[in-house]
Amino acid sequence: MDYPDALNKLIESFMRYPGIGKKTAERYAFHTLHRFENEDIADFIDSLHRVKEEIKPCEQCGHLTDDSTCVICKDTRRDQTKILVVETSRDVIVIERSRSYDGLYHVLDGVIAPSEGIGPEDIRIKPLLERLRNDDVKEVILALNLSDEGETTAMYINRLLEKTDLLCTRIAYGLPAGGNIGYADVVTLHKALEGRKKY
Ligand SMILES: [Zn+2]
Repeated sequence: MDYPDALNKLIESFMRYPGIGKKTAERYAFHTLHRFENEDIADFIDSLHRVKEEIKPCEQCGHLTDDSTCVICKDTRRDQTKILVVETSRDVIVIERSRSYDGLYHVLDGVIAPSEGIGPEDIRIKPLLERLRNDDVKEVILALNLSDEGETTAMYINRLLEKTDLLCTRIAYGLPAGGNIGYADVVTLHKALEGRKKY
């Protein structure tokens, strides 16, 4: 037997999230129905709208922001000679929380994945190269995940930088199995950055 239409729709909406199966979606839907006040619902709807309307990539580094440039790029006290390259905005947040790094970032928005038809032109490599024309930049630190795609992407970028005067380093991988930066703890990240090596 099916639920009434509105409840069904809500369950289906929750099931769009990764890792949320039918049972969890049902629990969320019932929680919404029984526990949320009208104000909570209004807040929820408002957040959903705002996240789509206000959040966009920083024009410089690609990190998510609600302004044209992000707070990191705006902060002139940060070391402008280093750019740390990551796959996603989430990696930026994790590294920032570890307080191990004071330079700039560049978010690639993915990795080169030939099997999925994702080439270098599909991620933010070109904007990275444009930023590197700035004389202030001396070092590019690659902090990509230890997947096949992460390795391919790191190799690709390193090859592009070989002809330049820029120092290309990569973080040391004492990272957990799978080498996913998003799941590394503060101490591990700190060590990974401290122990970075020339590519
Ligand atoms: Zn930025």
